[in-house]
Amino acid sequence: MEKQIKALEKVALGLEPSIKTLRKWNDKVTDYGLKFIDEIYDKPAYQKADEKDLQRLENFTIEEEGKSISKVLKVIERSIDSNNINPASGGHLGYIPGGGIYPSSLADYLVDISNRYAGIYYAAPGAVKLENQLIRWVASLINYPKTATGNIASGGSIANLIAITTARDAKNITSKNITKSVVYLTKQVHHCIHKALIIAGLREVIIREIDVDDKFRMDIKNLKKTIKRDRKNNLNPFMIIGSIGTTDVGAVDPIDDIAELSKKHDCWFHIDAAYGGFFVLVDQLKQLFKGVEKSDSIVLDPHKTLFLPYGCGMVLVKDADALHHSHQYTAPYMQDAEDNDYDRSPAQLSPELTKHFRGMRMWLPLQLFGLKPFKACIAEKWKLTKYFYTEVQKLGFEVGPVPELSVAIYRYVPKGTDANEFNKNLVDLIKEDGTVFVSSTMIDEVYWIRIAIVSFRTHLKLIKKYLRILERSKNKLLKELK
Ligand SMILES: *Cc1c(COP(=O)(O)O)cnc(C)c1O
Repeated sequence: MEKQIKALEKVALGLEPSIKTLRKWNDKVTDYGLKFIDEIYDKPAYQKADEKDLQRLENFTIEEEGKSISKVLKVIERSIDSNNINPASGGHLGYIPGGGIYPSSLADYLVDISNRYAGIYYAAPGAVKLENQLIRWVASLINYPKTATGNIASGGSIANLIAITTARDAKNITSKNITKSVVYLTKQVHHCIHKALIIAGLREVIIREIDVDDKFRMDIKNLKKTIKRDRKNNLNPFMIIGSIGTTDVGAVDPIDDIAELSKKHDCWFHIDAAYGGFFVLVDQLKQLFKGVEKSDSIVLDPHKTLFLPYGCGMVLVKDADALHHSHQYTAPYMQDAEDNDYDRSPAQLSPELTKHFRGMRMWLPLQLFGLKPFKACIAEKWKLTKYFYTEVQKLGFEVGPVPELSVAIYRYVPKGTDANEFNKNLVDLIKEDGTVFVSSTMIDEVYWIRIAIVSFRTHLKLIKKYLRILERSKNKLLKELK
């Protein structure tokens, strides 16, 4: 027996290479990472995937014997890191771009090595405290009370799901009243809200799409009228969902007005601020957040407007007990894990038990950089969008509403041809060029090109470059029309 165990041990030790080997791997990996960053401003934001490169990955199968780090990095470079959208590029201006500030990668490195069990206070009080400190810090930014709590989830979708699940239970929505219960939102709400409603078992609730005004914000009069009518018809209005920064146009709903109405009708008021939340760091934009502290729950994505790499969304819930009630459970084998009211365990506040210690990737950059550059960077994105909005009109483009945050929509309306088709072709040409990547949207059957300036690497020079590309591409298409 011992002999067999020893024989297995000998092979198993392959999982614990020498420090010398680790150093070699580290060097190769950091060389790759630093080269990537060094070249990022010259690399395209969009580069159509080569089928051969994807096939190479397909053929790079898992085998009994390991491969060399150089071989592996080569595949990563060719088959993964250089096809389609490059989210690390400042030229990524489509959808809602992500970030990727460097210290987060070091944080991931550190937490992957120590592998702290950040789901439970008892197991890792320091790790849990660190995450709760971040939650308390963000809560203080939006003036939530000290008793509020939350969770650092993998992203905004899961964070929204956690909030909606909590609202469901807090308002006691069960099989007995579900078909009479009503949720209020606008057409502009992010699609993950609808997914969350379905996943939370709320497929059968009544969803009222409230009208929007000319800036795509929830029309408070229409909301008032709709709730009143529903109450008269003996329905059960239980949740209103507002947005701080819609995906299409970056619209901010009238938060304070919704909060008042919500209170009056005893509804849960949830805010999806996954994109726009961290604009609260810009003093001149504070008025958009008026009344935010009156909401019951809110979602902010550090992997968007705090420029972190993907994998970090935060939900805050004012009533800590409500969040806890919907997500806690005990088991006999967990009896040693004591809980603590000040630093509650993430495992009792989210669907996860064992989890990535993702707070570190937010904490380390904030500690190393301090707040100053974050504030400047987010204010810069806001100003760049205003600049673009002015300049694009000088090129003859029609624009949507004045951007409140850092998303703007625009389109060129040519004479004698279908504008939707024209703008679609324009986006294709921009993609072909690849310097920047932009996405589009349909609003009431009108095709709009979007710009979303969220990447920490997007600066004035690039926006000027994009304006030139836009002008050149538009002129090229116009010429072809003749
Ligand atoms: C991105 C986004 C989401 C979804 O968040 P993920 O982090 O992508 O899961 C939800 N709402 C809004 C407004 C968003 O911009």
